[in-house]
Amino acid sequence: MTDLSERPRATSRIEKVRSVHVSSSLSTFEGESASFHSAHPPSWNVLLEALPEATALLDGRGVVHYVNGLLTALTGYEPVELIGHDVKLLLPERLRERLLRARRERPPAAVASIWNDEDLTILRRDGIEIPVEVSRSPFALDEGSWVVVAIHDVHTQRANEQARADAELRFRVAFENNMAPMTFADANDRIIAVNDAMCEMVGFTKEELLGCDSTPFTFPDDVGITESTHQRLISGEMEQERYVKRYLRKDGRVIDVEVSRSPARDADGKILYFVFSERDITEERALAAQLSHQALHDPLTGLANRALFEDRLAQAHGRVIRQGGMGAVLLIDLDDFKGVNDTHGHFVGDQLLTAIANRLGLVTRTADTLCRFGGDEFLYLAEGLESPKEAEVLAERLIKVIAEPYNIAGFLIEQRASIGIVIWDSTCTSFSETIQNVDAALYEAKRNLRGHHVVFTPTMHQRAVSRFSLVQELRQAFNAGDLVMHYQPIADLTTSQVVGFEALMRWNHPDRGWVPPNDFIPLAEQSDLILELGSFALRQSILEASKWASEDPSSRRPYVTVNLSAHQFLDPGLVPTIKELLAESALPPDNLVLEITESVALIDIAETMSVLEHLGNLGVGIALDDFGTGFSSLSYLARLSPRIIKIDQSFVRPVDDSLRNDTLLETIISLGRKLDMTMLAEGIETEPQFRRLRRLGCELGQGYLFSPAVPNHEVEAMVGQIFAS
Ligand code: C2E
Ligand code: CA
Ligand code: CA
Repeated sequence: MTDLSERPRATSRIEKVRSVHVSSSLSTFEGESASFHSAHPPSWNVLLEALPEATALLDGRGVVHYVNGLLTALTGYEPVELIGHDVKLLLPERLRERLLRARRERPPAAVASIWNDEDLTILRRDGIEIPVEVSRSPFALDEGSWVVVAIHDVHTQRANEQARADAELRFRVAFENNMAPMTFADANDRIIAVNDAMCEMVGFTKEELLGCDSTPFTFPDDVGITESTHQRLISGEMEQERYVKRYLRKDGRVIDVEVSRSPARDADGKILYFVFSERDITEERALAAQLSHQALHDPLTGLANRALFEDRLAQAHGRVIRQGGMGAVLLIDLDDFKGVNDTHGHFVGDQLLTAIANRLGLVTRTADTLCRFGGDEFLYLAEGLESPKEAEVLAERLIKVIAEPYNIAGFLIEQRASIGIVIWDSTCTSFSETIQNVDAALYEAKRNLRGHHVVFTPTMHQRAVSRFSLVQELRQAFNAGDLVMHYQPIADLTTSQVVGFEALMRWNHPDRGWVPPNDFIPLAEQSDLILELGSFALRQSILEASKWASEDPSSRRPYVTVNLSAHQFLDPGLVPTIKELLAESALPPDNLVLEITESVALIDIAETMSVLEHLGNLGVGIALDDFGTGFSSLSYLARLSPRIIKIDQSFVRPVDDSLRNDTLLETIISLGRKLDMTMLAEGIETEPQFRRLRRLGCELGQGYLFSPAVPNHEVEAMVGQIFAS
């Protein structure tokens, strides 16, 4: 056998022969190897070894004469395990048969025909079949035929191709079907791919976008605004940029978009393309803006709320500290606004508040802040004042603006307002103190001068503090049992006999002596304390009255009348409580009369009727207190049909005993009698008053003429008593 290297090769399939150093210890060809070693150019086995494919040299019978290192690596066989053996060793069983048949039919050229099969596989030493592609280079030498077989492993290649295809598919699905708008742009910012979500977001088709940069869908003012960050991205200073930009949709709508942009680079760091991921944040931003607006504004009127006002006041204060000057805070409170709600309902009440807010808004100076402080209160922050007088002029203007009549839902409504004013300068204190002071000024305004304004002075603070401490003291007094019930007798004016008692609360104050209820009940009414005081009065009066008895068994047991505050009357627990107290005390129900005033009865007429019905079912009587001081209409009076009408003291003790007053009293009395109600005159102090009332037909009376309210232990002696007349 001569040097193979001298022969031209029969096929050109194996062409690229890499120059590699191959050691002389390579496996050689059955004892003839020595003759190939010394030659130069390289011997054939060195060449085979250098081939980039797994290669074997077979003779015409299919016997292996040489394998290169790649083939041993591919098959797992050592050269000695293959050399000298039939190549069929490398074939799986089912293919061996075909090979042998081919050899029988077309020897010896058939030796390689089998290798043309497309689905050719070889069997590795570990028994695993792997798909391969084979190229053959048959040649004849010294009458013998030879074949160089190069086996190409398609298994790994196919796996790699598949993996790439899978990845591409995954990417395409992720890109195309992504809900997030995405764009790919080349290094020059030309769009090379966009997904459907992106097209949908900007309203352009793929065809319209491909090849363009972002200009067609960028809001004109925002073109180029992110240029500087792009530069930093391109220079590699940052790996990803995020920015918000306005996009202009094809339909002309402007949207806010959050964009994240990152470059894909090759191994050398050169930018291949950019990946953009976009998000429409228009709604999100609108919502955030709305939420922050809501957090700082009153939902009904749209005015600033307390939090915003507080912030503005702090800012204004800062400016005064820096620049000097003064400002004012005005607390505007609507007088008897509750009456509007009560008479016309909350819907009209809300409309009125909105209308007032609008009017005030129109006269609010641009530098100033108007705020709805709650319910029917507004705050006005006036800045840059020259003098306190200016704040007073402003207050009068606001009062006047509010006082103009309103036409709401067909009702003509007049609304007045009172205003408290605090003037502040650089020495101004905290927000809470400002509010406290302006509140104290408003309190004074409401107390003396409703419909006007009052400017805060430090003595008001003192008074506010003492009011506050009175409430504290009242609470303690109540807990300590310093509140007691006294009883003022009610007399039958015809017989002068005592028939009942009105329960009146008394506060035995350690320093001030007896504090009159007019001084503490209104205070208690501003807090929950009134409910506690009220239920105490009710319980105490019922329990004590249940023990009153006349020495004379023929005279009737006296009834007790108990005053109810608005809170108490509208408390759903009232009827059950009374039921329990009556059961507990065994006081006959018609010995209990509850006093309510007209204004309480009118708060919610439907509710009042229902409470009255329940009380009527229990057998408890109702007295309408302070009659004549309110504005109740006769129709209401008839509907309420109280058992007793208490004519207010002002009718009983008029400033002058004129004929006009007489007629008024006479009219009230005769009206009540016509409606079958018992008339009771309050505050009878003199004999003439008493006689007049008796003459006019008034049935009952109470007053200092008979007796002031007395402690319970003195009641016993008065039961059934006949006052001398
Ligand atoms: P009111 O219900 O109109 O009570 C009648 C007031 O007139 C009582 O004042 C009584 O002492 C006073 N009075 C009685 N006779 C005469 C008189 O001849 N001349 C004068 N000048 N006054 C007379 P008082 O006890 O100071 O009560 C004042 C108001 O406090 C009561 O007016 C009532 O509205 C309220 N009040 C008293 N006790 C209670 C209570 O337990 N609960 C509730 N909710 N209110 C109460
Ligand atoms: Ca009363
Ligand atoms: Ca009264």
